[in-house]
Amino acid sequence: MSLNELIQQLKNNNREYDLDLIKKAYFFAEQKHKGQKRQSGEDYLVHCVQTAYILIQLRMDSVSIAAGLLHDTIDDTNATEEEISKLFSPEIAFLVQSASKLGKLKYRGIERQVENLRKMFLAMAKDIRVVIIKLADRMHNMRTLSALPENKQKRIALETLDIYAPLANRLGISEICGELEDLAFPYIYPKEYRWLLKNMQERYIARQAYLEKVKPIISAELKKDSIVTIEISSRAKRYYSLYKKLLRHDNNFEKIYDLVALRVIVNNIQDCYAVLGAIHNLWKPLIGRIKDYIAIPKPNGYRSIHTTVFCIDGKITEFQIRTEQMHREAEYGIASHWSYKKNSNISSFKKTYQKELAWVNQLKDWQKEFEHNDPAEFLEMLKIDFFQDRIFVYTPLGEVINLPEGSTPLDFAYAIHTEIGHRAVGAKVDNKISSFDKELKNGQMVEILTCKNNKKPNKNWLSVVKTSSARQKIRNGLRE
Ligand code: MN
Repeated sequence: MSLNELIQQLKNNNREYDLDLIKKAYFFAEQKHKGQKRQSGEDYLVHCVQTAYILIQLRMDSVSIAAGLLHDTIDDTNATEEEISKLFSPEIAFLVQSASKLGKLKYRGIERQVENLRKMFLAMAKDIRVVIIKLADRMHNMRTLSALPENKQKRIALETLDIYAPLANRLGISEICGELEDLAFPYIYPKEYRWLLKNMQERYIARQAYLEKVKPIISAELKKDSIVTIEISSRAKRYYSLYKKLLRHDNNFEKIYDLVALRVIVNNIQDCYAVLGAIHNLWKPLIGRIKDYIAIPKPNGYRSIHTTVFCIDGKITEFQIRTEQMHREAEYGIASHWSYKKNSNISSFKKTYQKELAWVNQLKDWQKEFEHNDPAEFLEMLKIDFFQDRIFVYTPLGEVINLPEGSTPLDFAYAIHTEIGHRAVGAKVDNKISSFDKELKNGQMVEILTCKNNKKPNKNWLSVVKTSSARQKIRNGLRE
């Protein structure tokens, strides 16, 4: 992709950009990477431009795009942070420096991987754009992974599946999460990937054809109710997400109702509920399958209404109903918020999206706390405490606590406050007495019964809790 094509892409986005800045970054990267080739034989610059291109597709700002073009100049050329700071700005220099790896000699193997992650976690708490640039970089590296030797492919694909895809997911950037997972999938589970492909193709085509018959019916019904629709389209489930779902359902395709789902996009929230009513008026819904993520968004901010109905010929079919804005947010998550503000700078952005970014600060504090842990253990804990799927549970006062799936009432107690944990003598889940080791489910209300005289945790709790932060607090409490 040439500079002209890149600029054309910017114009297609139809928003204001600092073209001079982006051009300057392009020429700087071109000059610095001159003569360098990637393993595929392509000019190194292609990678920089493709990274920037992904950031443009995410509708990120000019600063991010420039930093995307420059992201490998400190690592792979003689450029320095000072030089970039002077030529561009301290802000861009920070982003490029943060996207760079640690000095090559300092660490090796898994220790090096962990130290690089720590560096990224610290930097993204300052400026979340760091991780979005890293995700764009990773995306292009994954798209071109076949050029690398086999042992490297495996390692990079695994890190993508373990860390980068879940990071994208927690930021609500489902487009990136989904593509990263699907790119890594064949490298990590080649046999399963081939099996899935073989078994889904026909079903997928049949499903698509069936939904083409459903579309005009729902469209006519909505017209009758004078609901304006922006789009009715079908969307296929991504491969890796389908694979994970099949694992939970005995590999039985018949139990997957959203292999291909119908998506209805309308103008406003009232219309979303009106569409839900119209669908239920046509077809009976399955009990327990109506999910209102508009009233109660998913922990990563996802909003939409899902319902599953016995559709024509009694075939079980899922519908997803949302507004255009919800749709953009569902695909681009935190990145979508940049699109609305013309001159947003990072500190005003952080203020506006404090709530959405709270976990990024928790991650920063968390990694400090476990600084001295063995790197392999650190990675395992990170996967559970931050990258496991999340659930929402409530305090009796209706406060929402966000925990990893599989958490227990004790994890909940320690997540609220260390003292609540230490003093716990019992727990109620949805008003019923529960044992400490009972796995919590999304949407439950949890109450911790405490006793003032109880000041020390119980040693056995170490094996009850699921999160490492709770475990650490218990260990500290036992030591005191
Ligand atoms: Mn790179």
